[in-house]
Amino acid sequence: MKGYIHSTESFGTVDGPGVRFVVFFQGCPLRCQYCHNPDTWAVKRGREMTADELLEEYERNKTFYRGGGITATGGEPLLQLPFLTELFQKAKERDIHTCLDTSGITYREKKAEEFRELFQVTDLVLLDIKHSKPKGHEELTGQKQDHVLEFARALEDTKVPVIIRHVVVPGITDGEEELLELGCLIGGMRNLKGLEVLPYHTMGESKYKALGMSYPLQGVPAMDSDGAKKAREIILRGIRNVRNKK
Ligand code: SF4
Repeated sequence: MKGYIHSTESFGTVDGPGVRFVVFFQGCPLRCQYCHNPDTWAVKRGREMTADELLEEYERNKTFYRGGGITATGGEPLLQLPFLTELFQKAKERDIHTCLDTSGITYREKKAEEFRELFQVTDLVLLDIKHSKPKGHEELTGQKQDHVLEFARALEDTKVPVIIRHVVVPGITDGEEELLELGCLIGGMRNLKGLEVLPYHTMGESKYKALGMSYPLQGVPAMDSDGAKKAREIILRGIRNVRNKK
């Protein structure tokens, strides 16, 4: 089986624990207004690679990956579910730590069994919750939120450890109500291992220009680290509210 791969990074340090081999999958059904990788959106493009070829790349630098492992990100890796599962199965045969960075958007109950196969070989999920409210989610990404929440429940049922990621964009995802709601959504998850609040940056703007696309967040300033810190505190308050009720 072959997958469509946008690119790989040999020394990733921000997508999962330790130093990691990061595989950027090609194709994404979302259109997040703040996306800084619009070049990963188109499906069936990029380099066609087998899982073995990717793992050979990993093996070339494997001494660096002690305490790290392999991360699948994108784009949206779940768009290529059979290939992703094969890659992680082969990684686990070599005792490599596997991490999936995803929005969960492609989850469907009717494919629950296929997803379970993936979960069995996934050590950690970085789940990007784009917006806590259904309307906000649709406006920000162009897709409904429901499947993301179903995916989160499936991860909880199968006890896959999860770190929640949330990008804080001024005027869009930094409202107190939205952030508290996010805390409430995730506070009850028994598999919650962490929270990463990522400040929005404008570095993607030049990519849009180079691709001849208009930038959806033109004029929206980057989020400073203080703003991201405050946002994190509000989400944590929401988590505590839920846990104190239990
Ligand atoms: S899920 Fe990621 S790759 Fe897809 S549009 Fe959103 S930010 Fe971009």
